[in-house]
Amino acid sequence: MPLGLYVHIPFCQRKCPYCDFNSYAGMEYLFAPFTAALVTEITRAGDAWGHPVVDTLFLGGGTPTVLPVEHLSRILSACRSSFPIAPEAEITCEANPGTVDQAKFVGLREIGVNRLSIGIQSFQDNELHILGRIHDAKQAKAAFCAARSAGFTNINLDLIYGLPSQTRETWVSTLNQAIALDPEHLSLYALTVEPGTPFARWVAEGRLPRPDDDLAADLYEIADDVLVANGYAQYEISNWARHDASHLPPTANPRFACRHNLIYWRYQPYLGFGPGAHSMIPGRRWWNIRAPKAYIRQIEEGHIAEAGHETIHDRLGMGEMMMLGLRLVREGVSEAAFQSRWGTTIEEVFSHELAELEDVGLIERMGDRIRLSRHARLVGNQVFARFLPKSNPTSTE
Ligand code: SF4
Repeated sequence: MPLGLYVHIPFCQRKCPYCDFNSYAGMEYLFAPFTAALVTEITRAGDAWGHPVVDTLFLGGGTPTVLPVEHLSRILSACRSSFPIAPEAEITCEANPGTVDQAKFVGLREIGVNRLSIGIQSFQDNELHILGRIHDAKQAKAAFCAARSAGFTNINLDLIYGLPSQTRETWVSTLNQAIALDPEHLSLYALTVEPGTPFARWVAEGRLPRPDDDLAADLYEIADDVLVANGYAQYEISNWARHDASHLPPTANPRFACRHNLIYWRYQPYLGFGPGAHSMIPGRRWWNIRAPKAYIRQIEEGHIAEAGHETIHDRLGMGEMMMLGLRLVREGVSEAAFQSRWGTTIEEVFSHELAELEDVGLIERMGDRIRLSRHARLVGNQVFARFLPKSNPTSTE
């Protein structure tokens, strides 16, 4: 079974007002002790786990590219010496257009990063301004071109839809400008107003309109039409990728699908490092302390950074495997994979749920696979919830 590593860099140049990720601005003074703590955490974990080979590595955040390349280099070296990295491994780094230049991308290539995920969000300056991004559309395009010039041949662009002031026209314009750059992969996320963020306060005060769910649904469908017409295949609820086959078999993922995220969606194991990072192996999930200072102190004092853990009993694991696998809109969940993992069939465990969801046309069967029907992609959460047990009494934190 493949294994993925996730490394969380919790720093950003400025905090975007819609963001509730575990990320912090104004902590440059922690860069050096944080990098040292992260290297220690990774090194100790490599020893504890017996140095298993990893197939994918993802530097996420936050904004990993706020760290100088020398720090990222130390982090990747620690990963390499603690977890042998498979020769064809996918090594992704998230990048914010306001924190990169050609030299930084060249540096990332030199330390072994072979995939970039650039947080563009929009190609409309007024929308970027509302989002509080530190870059404009011109910088976003320049970042992409610099990445290409540095030799990156596998690049994802993140875009957001359902923004205040966004229209069908501005969304199509953003999509067309993205397509004109010819990225290998696109991740499209609906804006959600997260509790506790400035956006949530502004919506409550009437300073920002509440996102329009009907418009967001329209924009999602428009995006699929535009992207499919331009040679991208949707393979996950929020992800599209280029494929080079003239005919992509109906349950196959496109060539440039993100291999790291496939590990999550296929319910395969991953180890996470850094503040707030989650890890999962069969039967157990755990997560780190979120605050960077507390995380560093904990590691410096010789402790593990774990803040909590959860036993994943079989029924919960089966439900999660369905919930995550159904996000893969082409591949779905394979009966064979489910049976080999749990020693029982999907039908035996979920006959009631499957019958109901099939009756109302929300899921379909394709060979030995079960997947969301096309029109269920907009109501995926309602489908996923059907597979989870009502309560999970074994959680601890
Ligand atoms: S750059 Fe990304 S992680 Fe950082 S605050 Fe903005 S949205 Fe959040």
